[in-house]
Amino acid sequence: MPERETQLARGEVPALGRATVEPYADATPGPFYYQRVAHPVGEEAERVLGELEGGQALLFSSGAGATTALILALLDPGATVAVADGGYWGTMAMLEGELGRWGIRTMAFDQSGEPPNADLVWLEPCANPMMSFPDLDAAIGQAHASGAIVVVDNTVLSPLLLRPLEHGADFVLHSATKILSGHHDALIGVVSCARAEDHARLKAFRSASGIVAAPDPAWLMLRGMKTLALRVERQSATALELARRLAQHPAVNRVRYPGLGPDPIAERYVEAFGPLLSFDVAGAEEATRVERALTLIENATSLGGVASTLEARARWEPTRVPAGLLRLSAGLEAVEDLWADLAQALAASSSALGK
Ligand code: PLP
Repeated sequence: MPERETQLARGEVPALGRATVEPYADATPGPFYYQRVAHPVGEEAERVLGELEGGQALLFSSGAGATTALILALLDPGATVAVADGGYWGTMAMLEGELGRWGIRTMAFDQSGEPPNADLVWLEPCANPMMSFPDLDAAIGQAHASGAIVVVDNTVLSPLLLRPLEHGADFVLHSATKILSGHHDALIGVVSCARAEDHARLKAFRSASGIVAAPDPAWLMLRGMKTLALRVERQSATALELARRLAQHPAVNRVRYPGLGPDPIAERYVEAFGPLLSFDVAGAEEATRVERALTLIENATSLGGVASTLEARARWEPTRVPAGLLRLSAGLEAVEDLWADLAQALAASSSALGK
């Protein structure tokens, strides 16, 4: 200690000792010579995900970052992208609002039918927030027949409930910010690739562009995934129970959750339907009143985490969803506590409307 103080006093940096575990300091550069290219925790997370998904996974800075990387790495100016209607609004907004200027043309389509001709077709089972579910085998087959690349955004279901690569998808995308990480504390995205050459291409683009996940969120995701199976099971069961009860509630006009059935297409592909559902109350004012009356469920925009969240989606996508649509993501709280909170919020709002 006195030795070090003397060094500091002289303005010398103390030698802290070369850790043998510093991968970037390898004299003969190994795979981890620079974190933008690869880092050990990221590769471990990619290995686990790739195994679950049945492909080769790559981490990105967020789900939106992964989307940007896919489009820019795979398509040329003038290319067309067909995106499932009623899915995550940010995908469409980014493609139209940002990548349109770079010559990417985007169209929305109803994923319950045949995809239109396009260079890339974007599907989203249990679409956030309209909850539509495509006939994956048919849609992927039709898209491939017309020469399109197929991407499936599997954020809501996770590879524990659905493995789109097994249905022929070329790429699977996750906002791992959601159920994969599971605790509302990491921002991260994943793409799993069916083919090694696509994986190499995307990895090269990722290194060049820097749209890459840092070690900290990769570690949070890896830790979250240790409880993924338990969370997916419980959150799916809770969402189903809440969907059933909401469907009986006089203040609720409509519930969207494929698990409510009968939904022969969704039932063909999955046995449980994940944490997300949406339901309609009378209108925008009523939706806001429900949001404000909740005491346990958080009024928040993220989804898929251990804490239940609810949000009136017309705030973000007013032209795409009904004015009274509320999106609910079931967390790990006791189902009776969640129902008590929802029931009191719906009662408070309908009595405020004089119902
Ligand atoms: N895909 C879906 C289905 C999402 O819900 C989201 C975000 O809400 C994204 C992609 C974008 O992910 P991120 O917020 O991690 O950029």
